Amino acid sequence: MTLRSFVVTACMVLMLVPGLPGAPSSPGPAPAPATLVVPKEAQPGPAFSVEAATRAYLAQIPPAATARSVAYFEGSYWLILWDFLYGAAVSLLLLNLGWSAWMRDLTARVTRFKFLQTMLYWGQYLVITYVLGFPLAAYEGYFREHQYGLSTQSFGAWLGDEGKTILLSMLLGGVAVAILFAIVRRLQRTWWIWGAAGSLAILVVGILIGPVFLQPVFNSPKKLSDPRITTPVLSLARANGIPVQDLWEIDASKQTNRMSANVSGFANTMRITLNDNLLRRGSPEEIQAVVGHEMGHYVLNHIPNMIMFFLILLVGLFALLKWALGAALGRWGGKWRIEGVGDPAVLPLVMLVASLFFFALTPVMNSFTRAQEREADMYGVNASRQPDGFAQAALHLAEYRKMEPSPLEEFIFFDHPSGRNRIHRAMQWKAENLQLFMPAPAPAAGLPGK
Ligand SMILES: [Zn+2]
Repeated sequence: MTLRSFVVTACMVLMLVPGLPGAPSSPGPAPAPATLVVPKEAQPGPAFSVEAATRAYLAQIPPAATARSVAYFEGSYWLILWDFLYGAAVSLLLLNLGWSAWMRDLTARVTRFKFLQTMLYWGQYLVITYVLGFPLAAYEGYFREHQYGLSTQSFGAWLGDEGKTILLSMLLGGVAVAILFAIVRRLQRTWWIWGAAGSLAILVVGILIGPVFLQPVFNSPKKLSDPRITTPVLSLARANGIPVQDLWEIDASKQTNRMSANVSGFANTMRITLNDNLLRRGSPEEIQAVVGHEMGHYVLNHIPNMIMFFLILLVGLFALLKWALGAALGRWGGKWRIEGVGDPAVLPLVMLVASLFFFALTPVMNSFTRAQEREADMYGVNASRQPDGFAQAALHLAEYRKMEPSPLEEFIFFDHPSGRNRIHRAMQWKAENLQLFMPAPAPAAGLPGK
């Protein structure tokens, strides 16, 4: 978790909005979708072998491309560690140099309202941590993305998106943080329980407003109108009891080359969005497989389940905070000039404990998400009956994901099943349903033609 993304996480608002980024001009109308190429070994027939079909798909990736995506993906393992250490160092700096107490003192001179003091503290905190974390954020968000050919943004456009993120974090995050500190100040003994409940409520509001208010700040979502895509996909939705009238398209190509799709929102704002890279480069079969996967998230209630999962995490985090803040302030509170858990100057310490908590739980969070993704994969291939389209989607994702990790690596670092496993399961499904793909037998002669 980068310091920057950590700040964003802290305001609990932007965390679950996928594909935040934003700026050059959007491309023209989508050309006809690409065509699906099924390798010889994956063609239906009596000799169909799951292993051979899987290998044939994987062999379509050129070795140089594999080397590149492996380097990119493995680099991200280390970034998890560097981000954590860098963020921890910044927090310790703010506490030990007395900057945090100094920022708090400044707010007290501006206003006597605690709520506003907390918001003002938060604004200063965001700016100072952003400046200190900028080299790492620029490397991760801009230079590294260009190095691997994944970004389509100019530096100015990237900075513009960063500025928007900070402004949103200041406003929405400021209100969220001020509410949480107000809870802590009023409920001295039980703040950790109500703080967890309040954080969850803020998280749900963030998910709810995400697609409607937050995403449009960075991109221009619009309803998908191309009937070549919408006709089969909406039919698939009706067949699966999903009451969607529309699908959404987002101009992600102004930030990235990545192909993706997602389900976002909650209750009334829930929707399925495909990005324009997928629409341009994906075959119709692939798009149907991907939408089937997203429908799986929807039908299997993955967003409400994830909210419940976060409730458990948040209660754990706040219980840890209650203990750790008490212990640390008892020992160093005087030196840091922090007056108690209700003092906004404690925020760097809160961030330090929270980042440690989430860092340690990386495999748990990844495994929870990966299990949901695997369920959505199975649902998607069952619903769409497009195992080859699904395999092609997995190949496209190989541009930025390692395809064949070790099982331990997959357990710790993968928030989706590995590409190899996804293709293997799709081919397994195909093997079990081979009759769907066999050429129709010639009509038997002599049947009465009614
Ligand atoms: Zn998914």
